[in-house]
Amino acid sequence: MGLDGQKHNRTAVPVDEAVRRIQAHIRPTDAEEVPLGEAYGRRLAQSLYAPHAFPHFRRSGMDGYAIRAADVTEASREGPVALEVTASIAAGDMPPEPLASGQAAKIMTGAMLPEGADAVIMLEMTVSTERAGRPYVLIARPIEAGVNVSPVGSEAAEGELLAGAGSLIGPGETALLAASGCSSVRVHRRPVVAILSTGSELLPPEAALSPGRIRNSNAWMLADLVRSGGGIPHLLGTAEDDLETVRRIVSDAGREADAVITSGGVSVGDYDVLAEWLSSWEGSTLFNKVAMRPGSPTSAGILEGKPIFALSGNPGACYVGFELFVRPALDRLLGSPHAGMPRMQALLGQDYGKVNAYPRFLPSRLECREGRVYVYPLAHVKSGSMRSIKDTKALLIVPAGGNGLQAGETVDVLLTGGGRSLFGEERL
Ligand code: AMP
Ligand code: MG
Repeated sequence: MGLDGQKHNRTAVPVDEAVRRIQAHIRPTDAEEVPLGEAYGRRLAQSLYAPHAFPHFRRSGMDGYAIRAADVTEASREGPVALEVTASIAAGDMPPEPLASGQAAKIMTGAMLPEGADAVIMLEMTVSTERAGRPYVLIARPIEAGVNVSPVGSEAAEGELLAGAGSLIGPGETALLAASGCSSVRVHRRPVVAILSTGSELLPPEAALSPGRIRNSNAWMLADLVRSGGGIPHLLGTAEDDLETVRRIVSDAGREADAVITSGGVSVGDYDVLAEWLSSWEGSTLFNKVAMRPGSPTSAGILEGKPIFALSGNPGACYVGFELFVRPALDRLLGSPHAGMPRMQALLGQDYGKVNAYPRFLPSRLECREGRVYVYPLAHVKSGSMRSIKDTKALLIVPAGGNGLQAGETVDVLLTGGGRSLFGEERL
């Protein structure tokens, strides 16, 4: 079959099948050790188990007095119990000696309880006094053993799983790592993603416009998308619509990078060089058409073990292709256990009348009102338009066929940006 023949002879695979085909080839990058302060946004290369119990000593949860609960069972307003204060224990101190019956130790939040003590009574519930020149405390109510005391291992037992391999490191994970004594942490290496724009019409941002030419926006958008997904973008510049040039640049880049993204040239036009190359190349094609709008010619393959994503040149479709296929793969390279975009249901905020032969992935925003999440397709969502990209928080899935969707219907949405910022800029 001639090249052109194959370019036209394309079988559309469903989006979820396309995602599966890609993910089946992706393995996390190798691990590296980074200082704890640089681990934010990376994924753990190994599980974190509690190296000791948390807390590892019986800890006071209050400023007050450590006492023996049995000493105050009869205490009342009318008949307060007086305990002799034998010590004052600050956080970080070793308690001086075991607490005997009839004694109390002043104790601060976070301090270690002396042996013998089994409860802490809040400072505000006590009255300090003196008897025969010695400090005493008056307690006017009984207290149960265990009150205001965190037992050893109450937060985690020694050896308990604190964060599994693949966990995304954020403030909570970092707190656990620091508390576990990790000043550095093994994470997966950030994947390097090479980005090539194809199109003889493309100009760099600094160039003056000329008739028929446009500035390359996809490369810069893709670089930011890669960064937001935890990768390191490597801009390869712009290639003319020439098969040999594209073959050489992508093959070379694939040797250095962990993945390559191209934009443009995937349809069936005369100068669609990616489509032409993928129909006769030395790699293996995973798919060269997806049952979706926008971006049905989106293609992907594996070249020498590296994923090559051939996204549409239309900015809107290029963006949708990245979110559907590249971001989840990037996340997997970083060590994520997840394989696709985060998904949820929402109520459709307004009617959507357009009927499609393929499912449509419609750039949308989300709004939360009265405890319900509404999804609104954005204006300017044609595949060629880029104005809606900046406001997109989700892709509304409009199923193929049917009679359109009505406001109030429950619909499926996929969260863009890995779901990390769902709503807009509204603040309290
Ligand atoms: P293509 O996928 O190459 O057929 O391109 C589809 C449309 O997207 C055409 O209007 C191109 O000019 C436009 N386009 C292609 N690449 C880019 C790019 N890097 N930045 C902005 N627009 C592009
Ligand atoms: Mg083109």
